Amino acid sequence: MNIALIAHDRKKDEMVNFIIAYESAFTGHKLYATGTTGQRIMDSTSLVIHRFMSGPLGGDQQIGALVAQNEMDLIIFLRDPLMAQPHEPDITALLRLCDVMGIPLATNVATAELLVRALQRGDFAWRELVHKYKPGEA
Ligand code: PGA
Repeated sequence: MNIALIAHDRKKDEMVNFIIAYESAFTGHKLYATGTTGQRIMDSTSLVIHRFMSGPLGGDQQIGALVAQNEMDLIIFLRDPLMAQPHEPDITALLRLCDVMGIPLATNVATAELLVRALQRGDFAWRELVHKYKPGEA
């Protein structure tokens, strides 16, 4: 599975603690993150993460491009609902694309936990069919 991890600044500790708690569930998957979030997670775990740009510099849009191509299977995006973000339009665009493509998306740690437990159970195996049979391909 291709999994994207994004956390706003005041949510980064929560994200790191969450990933530490579920590190084994993420092992073996292809992980992506915005710049600082990815660095923070790699500093605290043995996971290898492909880091995009920082969110305010276009990282959300880079992840959004993979969503648009139906190549992202699961997104954990710990947003800060109490602080205005300079890249709010990018955030809205990413959330919208997830809804367009029907991509499982958690925006708080309680939902993230449900999705990761579902991941451990293999509930997202249907996403492999999406990769196998891309629309428009034979
Ligand atoms: P960052 O980007 O992981 O580089 O901080 C996320 C964000 O703050 O939007």
